[in-house]
Amino acid sequence: MRDLDDLFDALSRSTFRSRFKLRPRERNYLTERGLPTILNHAADFVASRLAPAQPTNDGRQTPMANHPVFVAQHATATCCRGCLEKWHGIPSGRELDQSERDYVVEAICRWIEADIAAGAR
Ligand SMILES: [Zn+2]
Repeated sequence: MRDLDDLFDALSRSTFRSRFKLRPRERNYLTERGLPTILNHAADFVASRLAPAQPTNDGRQTPMANHPVFVAQHATATCCRGCLEKWHGIPSGRELDQSERDYVVEAICRWIEADIAAGAR
């Protein structure tokens, strides 16, 4: 796991990662449901799609759009176990523990809050 300031600094220097932004559809969904609910979804997605030692369709388990958490996962390189290993130093091939799940949700939360703040300017 990385320091989040360090992580976000590195993400901002990646052309691929910094391309991701919430579109109106995802932003509306977020406004309608509220951030706490969206973060519950994030915890569920992490538990079911990312946390298992061998996630189903690993590398392709996170859609590119249509839920704010999916967009945030690509933007924060928490989309699959390969990216978690490469970007966050979390080894593949074993289940994520609770602190790692919380760390992923925290990174997603921070990205969504920053995207909202940027969009509000
Ligand atoms: Zn990935």
